[in-house]
Amino acid sequence: MTPSDIEFDQRHIWHPYTSMTNPLPTYPVVSTTGVELVLSDGRTLIDGMSSWWAAIHGYNHPALNEAAKSQIDKMSHVMFGGITHPPAVELCKQLVAMTPDSLECVFLADSGSVAVEVALKMALQYWQAKGKRRHRFLTLRHGYHGDTFGAMSVCDPDNSMHNLYKGYLPNHLFADAPQCQFDDEWQAEDIDSFKRLLLQYHDEIAAVVLEPIVQGAGGMRIYHPEYLRQVRQLCNEYQILLIADEIATGFGRTGRLFACEHAQIEPDILCLGKALTGGYMTLSATLTTRHVAETISQGEAGCFMHGPTFMGNPLACAVASASLKLFTDSPWQQRIQSIETQLKAELFPLKSHSLVKDVRVLGAIGVVEMKQPVNVASLQRHFVQNGVWIRPFGRLIYLMPPYIIQTEQLARLTNTIAGTIN
Ligand code: PMP
Repeated sequence: MTPSDIEFDQRHIWHPYTSMTNPLPTYPVVSTTGVELVLSDGRTLIDGMSSWWAAIHGYNHPALNEAAKSQIDKMSHVMFGGITHPPAVELCKQLVAMTPDSLECVFLADSGSVAVEVALKMALQYWQAKGKRRHRFLTLRHGYHGDTFGAMSVCDPDNSMHNLYKGYLPNHLFADAPQCQFDDEWQAEDIDSFKRLLLQYHDEIAAVVLEPIVQGAGGMRIYHPEYLRQVRQLCNEYQILLIADEIATGFGRTGRLFACEHAQIEPDILCLGKALTGGYMTLSATLTTRHVAETISQGEAGCFMHGPTFMGNPLACAVASASLKLFTDSPWQQRIQSIETQLKAELFPLKSHSLVKDVRVLGAIGVVEMKQPVNVASLQRHFVQNGVWIRPFGRLIYLMPPYIIQTEQLARLTNTIAGTIN
């Protein structure tokens, strides 16, 4: 890429959460391989982000490339209305097999945010079909569920990227975020705020929606499984649906196949995305129980009211299928366990640093929370100069590397973070 391409980019192309008048710098990546990004000037960066939780197998994987190439020669896309195709059927078979037994019915959507929209609409239509008007969702502060309107309405109302939209969004219910961390001793009062809201508003609540165990973009917080267990219990008691947004946590990231497993619970509706295609292209899935699906189907509309143009895109389904196979056949538990052990060994010593507020590690996620917000542009520049790709936000410098990362490569990431802070 030439300097004029970069200039064009800065002048004409919006990047995520970036100003059009004073954009943060962007780095030109021309190819990717394994756990490395290749810049246009030939430098390579070790990737600590998995392209936002997605590229779990690393980049340019031969099996995924092959799946895309062989599918593209057969059919890139065909409408899903009135048509089905082998890639969708194969993928959904795998999803039904690997998720809890109760989750039998799959809706394929375009992105994580849309999977959340679909989940919320399923819950609303479920209650409508039962002749009840339940129009509110109960969720947690510090949550993040996406950038579309329904998803934004259940993101943290003050602390998220979306507080600007507050006046335009429906008014949902926000319980205090869990304070007990994953390995802390459980404190019974942690669930009080959630319980209070549920007791007070249960007649209005269509579903509880949350990110199980790890709250991602809302603060990279890792909470106690007992919180989730009690949420499930309370939802059962009040017969409220539980939506688990595992878009970030799904497919091994927290050390379990799905984060719900840390609490041994099953949701009524499960949202998956990001790593679903191994980070190759956008695709998401919302799974639910036969009971929810049948109730919706017996409602006034007689069907679920959603059907995007690119639903079940064959190319994305074929790659997702190959990615799930690759994942299932890999020693992912050992890989993630060893990433976790290394992250703990190399990041925990930073806990005592005067600039550091907290260090948290679970599975292949390592978070260093600073006391003050970091300067993203200058930190990013520094990381790139040191040959690593780490994208901090707010007070957080964090890693979620591809599962195939080697010990020395991960050490390079953690050493760079430690060196920078020190
Ligand atoms: N839910 C969670 C938990 C997420 O982390 C994200 C993405 N950061 C989303 C939903 C939205 O997914 P997408 O960006 O693919 O729309």
